[in-house]
Amino acid sequence: MDLASNLNAVRDRIAAACARSNRPPDAVQLLAVTKGRPPEVVDQAFALGLRLFGENRVQEAKAKLPLCANGIEWHMIGHLQSNKCRDATALFDVIESVDSIHLARELHKTAAQAARHLRVLLEVNVAGEATKFGLAPDQLPALIEQFNQFPRLQIQGLMAIAPWTPEPEKVRPCFARLRELRQRCAEILGAPLPELSMGMSGDFEVAIEEGATIVRLGTALFGPR
Ligand SMILES: *Cc1c(COP(=O)(O)O)cnc(C)c1O
Repeated sequence: MDLASNLNAVRDRIAAACARSNRPPDAVQLLAVTKGRPPEVVDQAFALGLRLFGENRVQEAKAKLPLCANGIEWHMIGHLQSNKCRDATALFDVIESVDSIHLARELHKTAAQAARHLRVLLEVNVAGEATKFGLAPDQLPALIEQFNQFPRLQIQGLMAIAPWTPEPEKVRPCFARLRELRQRCAEILGAPLPELSMGMSGDFEVAIEEGATIVRLGTALFGPR
């Protein structure tokens, strides 16, 4: 694995996708997904300038994060159980996978106990897949004000995992739908929801063309898991 050249290639592809969609190249943040990778790999990526990192399991993060460089912004991107909220609050800067009011309430509580605020994204099951977590897209507009009632949580936007496909064009409508949903929720709240976390190694260019502000990449940076 040559991380430096993978990263250069990814940065070029992000810049090209931004150019195609008339977006400035700094409109998209690259989040490095390090699940299953050792702390040395995190530190290598940090040394190359990456600052946003994502993990999908609290257990793994609890062991790994203390061994990694300081100055990282850690994002929780996997399903979170409410009994792990205390640990997640202590470990992460952003929880991208808030998928129920119950979970939001628990995070609000643990954030209050830790005397801090938590940035969160709401995860949407944008294609309605039975195997995925996330809020149903047609139910979110009716729920968004309830999510907004927790003063310790700052809702920054939406997150989605598109269905896996070898042809990323096929999931373009999923990304477009998430963007439209964000717009609708922002109108209901009367406040901007700046972040759209969508796009992984197989589909991030299409996600950027549809408005992604955070792309979450593992394989494209670090090779196969
Ligand atoms: C693993 C994972 C990614 C990264 O997947 P790659 O295909 O390796 O880029 C992105 N988002 C979530 C939620 C993940 O669990």
